[in-house]
Amino acid sequence: MLPSWQVDENAVLLTTIDEQGNDRNSSPFNPTQSLYGIHNVIDINKFSRYKTLLRVTAYVKRFINRCKSRHRSMRKCPSKLEPLNVLELQDASRMWLHSCQSTYYEAEITNLKSNEKRLTLVKQLRLFLDEDGYIRCGGRIHNAPLTELTKFPYLLPNKHPLTRLIVLDAHETQLHAGTSALITHLRQIYWIPALRQYVQSLLRTCTQCRKVTGRPYAAPDPPPLPKMRVQDAPPFTVTGVDFTGALYVRNRNDAEKKAYICLFTCASTRAVQLEVVPDLSEESFIQAFRRFTCRNSLPRILVSDNATTFNAAANSIQLLLRSVTIQDTFHSQGTEWRFIPKRAPWFDGWWERMI
Ligand SMILES: [Zn+2]
Repeated sequence: MLPSWQVDENAVLLTTIDEQGNDRNSSPFNPTQSLYGIHNVIDINKFSRYKTLLRVTAYVKRFINRCKSRHRSMRKCPSKLEPLNVLELQDASRMWLHSCQSTYYEAEITNLKSNEKRLTLVKQLRLFLDEDGYIRCGGRIHNAPLTELTKFPYLLPNKHPLTRLIVLDAHETQLHAGTSALITHLRQIYWIPALRQYVQSLLRTCTQCRKVTGRPYAAPDPPPLPKMRVQDAPPFTVTGVDFTGALYVRNRNDAEKKAYICLFTCASTRAVQLEVVPDLSEESFIQAFRRFTCRNSLPRILVSDNATTFNAAANSIQLLLRSVTIQDTFHSQGTEWRFIPKRAPWFDGWWERMI
């Protein structure tokens, strides 16, 4: 025996359509009354996608139709869930449109039915109710070679969750189109007041669009130069030192051989002295440094990197700079050797640019 459904007088009235597409509850079809309250059955705020909302609505409606079916055969649950057809999805879309208009524009509908047309919105947009009970905009393009829907679009409030879902769905369907393209697309079907501002505010929340159109992180302003870079002192008082990469030179026997350049540069005057060295050994560097000090004054501060770079030359420099012999030599001559912080290549920009 089939269960008898309890009748709740406060229950929301839903229109059901039978398998042939005929409305069985109300005749003639009056959506502003019969479909009123779909938002009480399904909470639209729980949906983030318009298509999902339509599919859930269509399935709910199909379930109600089957429950109300008088034929026993139609009550049987199918072994496999039948996919939704286009008509069911379009019907769900119409239900939500009617629900939205009838709840948000209740006063306008009453005004239109009374034929008074005193409300500002009604006069401004030349609103009228079409044969299905939808509120549509009049406009002045009756004679344009456009579809009826474009000439007389449906009115939608911009502060309704349905409008938000429709705009986001159109944005996604149009492959994340910009504001103007999206407005053009939407206005072929809907008229939404203050649409441009609404679309702009919604597009700002789109993650994909922000990834594409977002500006890169702005680098902070460079800080003031350190005191040793700007002080008034003899050349090479503060000196930066570094090696270049390998160069190929020919010796007296016309054989190709690797060579390197040891670069000394002054921090304040930017003077440069280049010393060719045959290799990156400790001995070669000391000889280059002696040649440098013979031509110039002995630097008070010698700055170099930690040589944590990734090439062989840098590794050799690292071994050099850790040498106790070199440290002792410089300390005895009154030269302080400073290392820039590790993994901070911007500290040695003032000699790398000379390299
Ligand atoms: Zn987007």
